[in-house]
This record gives sequence, structure tokens and C-alpha cells, in this order.
Amino acid sequence: EFDVLVVGGGPAGASAAIYAARKGIRTGVVAERFGGQVLDTMDIENFISVPHTEGPKLATALEQHVKDYEVDIMNLQTATQLIPATTPGGLIEVRLQSGASVKSRTVILSTGARWRNMNVPGEAEYKNKGVAYCPHCDGPLFKGKRVAVIGGGNSGVEAAIDLAGIVAEVTLLEFAAELRADAVLQRKLYSLPNVKVLTNAQTTEVKGDGSKVTGLSYKDRLHDVTHDIALEGIFVQIGLVPNTEWLKGTLALSKHGEVEVNAKGETSLPGVFAAGDCTTVPYKQIIIAMGEGSKASLSAFDHLIRSTAP
Ligand code: FAD
Repeated sequence: EFDVLVVGGGPAGASAAIYAARKGIRTGVVAERFGGQVLDTMDIENFISVPHTEGPKLATALEQHVKDYEVDIMNLQTATQLIPATTPGGLIEVRLQSGASVKSRTVILSTGARWRNMNVPGEAEYKNKGVAYCPHCDGPLFKGKRVAVIGGGNSGVEAAIDLAGIVAEVTLLEFAAELRADAVLQRKLYSLPNVKVLTNAQTTEVKGDGSKVTGLSYKDRLHDVTHDIALEGIFVQIGLVPNTEWLKGTLALSKHGEVEVNAKGETSLPGVFAAGDCTTVPYKQIIIAMGEGSKASLSAFDHLIRSTAP
């Protein structure tokens, strides 16, 4: 039984756990994979005050920092169900895939998100070697180079506009006949001299020389012909999916499946808080996830000192 149970061991979860443990309360972390998305990242240059680090290094540092405190880390455990307290201030239950069940007075959800992949040959092989998902993170690595953005929704068009200011040339590929982004973004996009937009374009392959991306192939769906583009980078912007499937029907989620939180990190369920990429908080970044994690933890502590249960 815990005072604070954190579900998720990425930057948000690690930060929440440390803030809770520093209050001297019983703290646990359940994580499918401690480190989270950071484990899949290579260069990190926007974790302020640390000019450069690497994902696996930061993930190890997160775990070491959490282990400096009395935190019960349940790694390689997947939460499958959240059962609200039956009485105000009562215990909240989190069921695990293993069949076990963990109870806590408060729960902090920090299960993060995952980028939707194109699932084409070469994508997985060249991840972090030219295939990227986050323009805020990796845009500057492609300064002066040629890149493609896959996806013509708001995030794809925003990424293309952002990248156009950094790289030499941006080609935006949209599968459908039209872009789905807001009109104001499309107007901005079409005003940029170094952006080319291809619609009805289905990316079919990421090409590389064995160590980095050298181009991509796409099918012109109108004419059923395949073309190649030579380039150095590919930003895949076809959706960020929150890891909240297991919470459906339990608490309020946005239409994108993000856990709805207020400014204090409170969810629609009393005693349940959330932080990081799994929430409605915009801009999915490490530094933001950490800030949100600490905030949710302080809110959980505040909730505990105000609730009447022993
Ligand atoms: P996550 O890191 O996604 O962690 C989620 C945690 O929850 C994991 O431990 C996961 O195993 C666990 N989990 C999920 N579901 C369950 C479940 N049902 N039960 C138990 N545990 C569960 N951001 C930057 O700021 N700078 C960068 O340079 C940068 N580069 C990136 C590069 C790549 C390739 C990617 C994919 C992301 C990058 N990001 C970067 C984004 C950054 O990694 C995320 O914003 C950040 O990790 C979010 O933290 P989080 O704790 O909310 O979630």
C-alpha cells in the first residue's frame, strides 16, 4: 500500500516519484520500461543546463536519481486497469498484467505516448539516423540539409514551417488528396519559398547507405508511379498516440485519448493525477514532462494532507 503510486517510468514518472519520496511518504513506481521514450532517443540538446546528452545516458541518470530515495520500483510491469476508490479518500487500485494489484491513496498517471510509425521498409533501421519524429528536438541537426515531413495534418504542417527556417529544403508528403491542417497554417506553408508539397503521395520506403538516410520513395497515388527523392532527413508526423487505452471509460480523456488535466495536474477522478505526454498538456518534451511530473506530485501531496483517511 502506497501514499503515491506512479504509473510510468519516463521523465514525468521519475520526477513525480522523486518529489513524492522527498516528502517522506510511501512511494511506488510501476513501469513497463523504466526510462520511457528517452531510451529510444539518441542526441538530446534541449534539456536545459545539459547542452548535450544521449537518451540511454539520461535514462540511467533518471533511474539512479530515483534510486537515491526510498522508492519501490516495479519495473517491467504493465498496468491494465485503474479502479477508483469506493469511498472519498479511500484506496485506489491499479491492476497489473501479471495479475497482481497495487493499492495507493493517490495515483499519478505518466504512461507517456508513442509516435505512430509509417511501417515502411527502412524506417526502423534508420531511426535516429535520419528518421526523426520531433522537430523541436532534432530540427537543428538538419541545418542546411534537405528533409521531408510525412503527414499534412496540423503537426506535419507546423513541423514543415518550423523546419523551413532551419533546413535548406522541405518536402511535405500527404497521403490524401488535400492537407488536413488549419487554413492559416496552410497559407503560411504555401508562402514559404523552400517548401514543396506533394499530395496523394504515399511514402513506400526509407532509403539509406547503411549508416544514414539518403532518400525516400513514394508512390504518386493518382498516377500509380513511384518516385525517389534524395534527402538527409525524414520527420514522421502522422500522430502521437497516448498510452491510455487501458484507462478508457475510467476517467476523462480528450478526443485524442489524452488524460484531461487541469493546471494542478488533477484528472476527473479524485486522488488521481497525471503528467507528461499522456496528458492534454501541449508540447511533448522531456523538460515539460519533468515539470509536470513534479507538479502532479506536489498536488498529490496536497491532496493527501487534506484528505481525512488515516
Ligand atoms: P514516456 O517517456 O513515454 O514514458 C512513459 C512511461 O510509462 C514508460 O516507462 C513506459 O514504459 C510506461 N508505460 C506506458 N504504459 C504503461 C502501462 N500501461 N503500465 C505501466 N507503465 C506504462 N524530448 C526532448 O525534450 N528532447 C529530445 O531531444 C527528444 N527527442 C526525442 C526523440 C525520440 C526518438 C522520441 C520518441 C522522443 C523524443 N523526445 C524528446 C520526447 C520525449 O522523449 C518525451 O516528451 C518524454 O519522454 C515524455 O515523458 P513521459 O514521462 O511523459 O513519457
